[in-house]
Amino acid sequence: MNIGVFMQEYLRAAVRKPRQFLQARPARLCTICGYEGRFLDVGPRPEARCPNCSSKERDRIMGYYLHSNNIDMSSKNLLHFSAERPFFRLWRRNPGYVAGDIKASKVANTVVDITNIRFEDGYFDHVICHHILEHVPDDVQGMRECFRVLKPGGTAFFSVPLDPSRSETWEPPADMPPADVERICGWDHVRLYGRDFPDKLAAVGFQVDEIRFSPEDGERHRLTENHALARQGLDRIFICTR
Ligand SMILES: [Zn+2]
Repeated sequence: MNIGVFMQEYLRAAVRKPRQFLQARPARLCTICGYEGRFLDVGPRPEARCPNCSSKERDRIMGYYLHSNNIDMSSKNLLHFSAERPFFRLWRRNPGYVAGDIKASKVANTVVDITNIRFEDGYFDHVICHHILEHVPDDVQGMRECFRVLKPGGTAFFSVPLDPSRSETWEPPADMPPADVERICGWDHVRLYGRDFPDKLAAVGFQVDEIRFSPEDGERHRLTENHALARQGLDRIFICTR
């Protein structure tokens, strides 16, 4: 049990949304830290956070896949962009773990530009890249670079905010003022992805699949954002094999 994290998460939840504790909630099971018990609300997302490791829905989808496929990262060369805190805590001492970000950060051990990755071809067993590409002006170059640094047979994991009602990704016109782009796409986002996102990954050479789980597992581990304001309803994580 991570007492420090646990106290901090409970305190935050009690301050921000005390009424949640008046509601009975079933026990959930975290796919990352193994905690079983009550999860905490985050804004409009009921039971979004594991109090023991701070994981959120998307993190637990990733944890679910790694656990179900017995993937042990301790001996792997892994490139992880803007690492999610629960994973950073788990992996930061692994010798082959590269937690990269475009600038120095508490959850990074080095600076890496996704459009110009300073590692040789085929260096990594895995690349994890969640909610990064929507911030990157040349996202196709980012995908190409992830493909290049991956070993043949290696896998990369990608997710973006994806609007399922949109068949094609929307790129703003070049002369659109940045404030308008941000109003339409969201804070610091440079485009709106549509259902063609996996096709873009396939176009750079990846074989693309998706992490799937049953509705029962989704509920048990709380893998989906189940609330009215969810823009994408379900966070989809694509498994891309080189
Ligand atoms: Zn957890």
